[in-house]
Amino acid sequence: MDSFIAQDQTYVAGTYARFPLELVSGTGSVVTDIHGKEYIDLGSGIGVTSFGFADKEWTAAVTAQASTLQHTSNLYYTKPCADLAQTLCERTGMKKVFFSNSGAEANECAIKVARKYSAETKGADCYTVITLKNSFHGRTLTTLAATGQDHFHQLFNPLTPGFVHVDAEDLETLNKMVADIPTAAIMLECVQGEGGVIALSREFIIGVAALAKENDIPLIIDEVQTGNGRTGELYAYMHYGIEPDIVSTAKGLGGGLPIGATLMNEKMQNVLGAGDHGSTYGANPVCCAGALSVINRLDDAFLAEVTAKSQYVFDALTNADGIESVSGLGLMIGIKTVKPAKEVVTACMEKGVICLTAKDKVRLLPALNIPTETLKKAVEIIKTVCAE
Ligand SMILES: *Cc1c(COP(=O)(O)O)cnc(C)c1O
Repeated sequence: MDSFIAQDQTYVAGTYARFPLELVSGTGSVVTDIHGKEYIDLGSGIGVTSFGFADKEWTAAVTAQASTLQHTSNLYYTKPCADLAQTLCERTGMKKVFFSNSGAEANECAIKVARKYSAETKGADCYTVITLKNSFHGRTLTTLAATGQDHFHQLFNPLTPGFVHVDAEDLETLNKMVADIPTAAIMLECVQGEGGVIALSREFIIGVAALAKENDIPLIIDEVQTGNGRTGELYAYMHYGIEPDIVSTAKGLGGGLPIGATLMNEKMQNVLGAGDHGSTYGANPVCCAGALSVINRLDDAFLAEVTAKSQYVFDALTNADGIESVSGLGLMIGIKTVKPAKEVVTACMEKGVICLTAKDKVRLLPALNIPTETLKKAVEIIKTVCAE
């Protein structure tokens, strides 16, 4: 195959600073480029390919559905949609699910539900959503407004009004905000992914949940990156024993197909009625079949393996030469390296390991089923690169 970099750069909008890497195929956690060079993949397409590339079970589920009924629209009932919704509710205790196609859309729905609930219970001026500084919630104009990082905003003002940001871990200021501003929702990631793989403290998360409950403010947990087994629990909020009102998820849910889901608890389940929200592609049967095959494999034994692999990575990298700190939860790992993160990622790629970055960190989001031997090999290469 000839290089297609020039073709891509000519015709594809230049929104991505791509690495000069042309990928053509993959199996499990190994991906192959146009020259036949193999890489151990520790990025999973940003936490999407939960079971790696061309996984047999996932591929079988998806191809069976694709060759039966690939799309119907939401005017009719389809079985994969109903099955996936039931499974998600049974595994979380949530009561209803809205399906969309991405993380941003899952968050849009979450915000719409919270705003409608709060307007109906507290009045039309109760529309402000409090999110955290350094958060990431998506690229649509509303989820950009929710995102607490100014540099994403500047070129696209005015954004959707009604969003304010508070520092993570600052419960005192959050308390004041809730007292001063009619608050429609509080929204956060338990581990800030794009913000640098920062796990929020147990005290803060539990404190926010209590504050939200006391004031009947819908608590939205953005599990787009942390969800679907990534942190060693089905959803990251489960580490803290809190009960969110709304959970949004996407990325790893579909195992490589675009799907977003917004889960609503008992209180939120009937907020949206017919005509209040919709998505043409939402609940696409092929995406739902893929997602169902992913969720059904995330049992306790499997999640324990995710935690064990995480522990291995933390142990291997903490205090290693050229590494300042290791952060995160489960197989969502941030590494503060002495060398600039981008330099480490580039050097690892040359040595056949694909890593991500998040702010000033090297970020790892390997497939959840990465074989331990493969993970060890990749971690040794990261250590070598950091120590050089
Ligand atoms: C990636 C991400 C999003 C946006 O998801 P898209 O599918 O790119 O729209 C939202 N929230 C979090 C926490 C994310 O990591």
